[in-house]
Amino acid sequence: MPRRQNTAAQRAREVQRETGAKYTTALREATEDTIRTGTFSLQELLAECATLPQWTGVHPEVDEEWAPKMFDSALLGGPVPYSAVLRLAGDLAVKGMSAEMWLESRAAFSSLVVVCGVHRFELLLTQSAWAYELCHVPGCGSLPLSARSIPYCGESEHLAERSEAELVRMAPAGERPA
Ligand SMILES: [Zn+2]
Repeated sequence: MPRRQNTAAQRAREVQRETGAKYTTALREATEDTIRTGTFSLQELLAECATLPQWTGVHPEVDEEWAPKMFDSALLGGPVPYSAVLRLAGDLAVKGMSAEMWLESRAAFSSLVVVCGVHRFELLLTQSAWAYELCHVPGCGSLPLSARSIPYCGESEHLAERSEAELVRMAPAGERPA
């Protein structure tokens, strides 16, 4: 590649990084103050997803060609991929449109955690359609041993700290003591 093109591409990337960094800083400052303590319903979140226009900013962590299509969510504290919200909605659909949830945390443009009842879901903001359930302990970023039957991670003693009664409830029905 000719040297001049290289420089132009480099400059473009620097500008992108700078703009992105500024946006990320602004977002971080804004979300620290405004992370909602209130709840919202699955219906409200889907309404945002279905009606808000595509966010046109520059993703600070992913090159433009790889960046997911996003909308600027008021409920989730900034831009989020449409597909991640739809994936989350799929996981929560069984609870109904009035299922209440809240934003536990948001790390700028990399990920966020939404809580619905005892369930906690991490949405990745750097790729499409990534939403998966986390360990049930608030603040824990690990995956559960089994999202379906053992909703706690094996790290940080989160499973070991459960009461005997809770461990029995988690055990598969066929293996429950008589
Ligand atoms: Zn855990």
